[in-house]
Amino acid sequence: ASEQRAELVARDLTVRFGGLTALSEASLRVKPGEVHALIGPNGAGKSTFINTISGFYRPTAGAFELDGLQLTGMASHEIARAGLARTFQNTELFGEMTVLENVMVGGQQRLRYGVLASILRTPAMRREETHCRQAAIGLLAFVGLEDYAYEEARFLPFGLQRRLEIARALAANPRLLLLDEPAAGLTTQEIDDLEAMIRRIADLGISVLLIEHHVELIMAVADTVTVLDYGQVIASATPAAVQADPRVIEAYFGT
Ligand code: ADP
Ligand code: MG
Repeated sequence: ASEQRAELVARDLTVRFGGLTALSEASLRVKPGEVHALIGPNGAGKSTFINTISGFYRPTAGAFELDGLQLTGMASHEIARAGLARTFQNTELFGEMTVLENVMVGGQQRLRYGVLASILRTPAMRREETHCRQAAIGLLAFVGLEDYAYEEARFLPFGLQRRLEIARALAANPRLLLLDEPAAGLTTQEIDDLEAMIRRIADLGISVLLIEHHVELIMAVADTVTVLDYGQVIASATPAAVQADPRVIEAYFGT
C-alpha cells in the first residue's frame, strides 16, 4: 500500500461548538508506522478529534498535517486523497449494496456512473473497473469476508459489518487509518480477530489511530497511547506508562 509510512502531527487543536469546548489545544503525533490509541471518558473529545482531522469539523484554532502537508481547512475528500481514511463510530455502510460494491465505492467514488454512462463506458473505464473489482476482492480476503462478496451489506451480522467498514476504508489506499471504536459491540472472539487485523494493517506500513475503550485491546496493539479528558491531552506515552499514570488512573481507569 504505502512506500512511505505516514506521520500525523496535530498542534493545539481547539474545537468549540457554541459555548462548549470539545477539544482544547490538543496536540498529538502519530509516528510513522505506529498504532496509536486515543482513549478517554465519554465526551472527552475523541470523536471530535477524528472528525476534525478527517475534515468533517473545522477546528476553531490549531493546525494538523500529514507528512508535512498542511491539511487544516481542507475538505474531507481532499484529506482522503492525501492518504487519510476512517471508519465511523456508528457503522455507515450502503445497506442495499453488496459487500463487494461497498468496498469498490471506497476505492473509486467515480465508478458509480449513471445508466447512460455505463452504456457509453469506454474500454479504459472498463479496465479500471476490473482493476478496482480485483483490488476489492483482495481486500475482502484480507479481512476474511471473501465468502460474503455478493450478499447485501445489511444482511451481514454486526461484527462482519464492522470488518466491511475497515475493508472499505482500506480501499482508498490510505497511509493513515482512523478507527473510531472498532471493538464496540464485538464478541471476545471478534475482538481477538480485530487485534490480529490491526497488526496486519500496521504490517502493511499503514499508520493507525485507534479510538477504543477496550483496555486489553489497547494494551495489546498500541505503541503509544494518548489520553483525552475534558478535551485536553493529559498523557501521551507507552501503554504501560499511561496505565501507571496517576492522572490517567483518576480520570479514566479509576472508575
Ligand atoms: P467522545 O468521542 O470522546 O465520547 P465527542 O468528541 O463525541 O466525545 O464529544 C465531545 C463533546 O463535544 C461532547 O460534549 C459532545 O456532546 C460535543 N459534540 C461533539 N460533536 C458535536 C457537534 N457536532 N455539535 C455539538 N456538540 C458536539
Ligand atoms: Mg466518540
